[in-house]
Amino acid sequence: MPELIDLINETLPQFQCGRCDTPGCRPYAQSIIDGAPHNRCVPGGEDTLKKLQILAKREPLELDGKYGPGLINQTAQVIEEECIGCKKCIDACPVDAIVGAANLMHVVISDICTGCELCIEPCPVDCIELVEISKEVSLAIRQASEKYVELKNDLKIVRVSQNKLNHSNALNSLMGDKINQQMQQRNIDKDLALESLQSSILESQKNEKLLESDDLERLIKQLRT
Ligand code: SF4
Ligand code: SF4
Ligand code: SF4
Repeated sequence: MPELIDLINETLPQFQCGRCDTPGCRPYAQSIIDGAPHNRCVPGGEDTLKKLQILAKREPLELDGKYGPGLINQTAQVIEEECIGCKKCIDACPVDAIVGAANLMHVVISDICTGCELCIEPCPVDCIELVEISKEVSLAIRQASEKYVELKNDLKIVRVSQNKLNHSNALNSLMGDKINQQMQQRNIDKDLALESLQSSILESQKNEKLLESDDLERLIKQLRT
């Protein structure tokens, strides 16, 4: 039988936007279990609110607008000619969907961008735009990103400790360039390429010594299942 945290997490929309004042959807699920109000996920809307009320056995509440506006099904895109390569957007992205090297143009890997909008505000030249995508595509991306974000949260490498991720960003950049090149070609196995990128980022954490190497191996294996 699934645990309550899994049921609550599955109900949340997986934008990983942090608007509920936690680092992502699963941390918010845990926070609800620990007693936080269940009405802070505005992007989830009324449907999610009602499901959370039933799952958490709470009294009905209105969505709490203090936690920000909702989100639509969208993806981010960098306006190439305006990007100054400052890397600030990389630091903000919860799913490592932005790649680029210092002083060079950055690119969003649209296959893993949840549309969370966290990269918009840090961009000093306002060169990231949002493009609406279909609900089906957005849902598939958000669900696919869920496991990766959870593994990262397990590794305690959420963005508050971003300074520890410089090494990962370099790897991101290399792997991302490779993936984007491959995406131009036919017959690319995108799932395999993305798994390779994400595994590389986790592998790089071995140098950060945040977790024992055995634990990291276990997490990397989980990513591959
Ligand atoms: S979608 Fe955003 S606001 Fe909703 S639970 Fe996930 S991180 Fe929190
Ligand atoms: S690229 Fe921007 S909008 Fe997309 S997931 Fe990353 S931070 Fe969110
Ligand atoms: S924050 Fe803006 S200017 Fe800086 S690298 Fe990202 S897209 Fe380019």
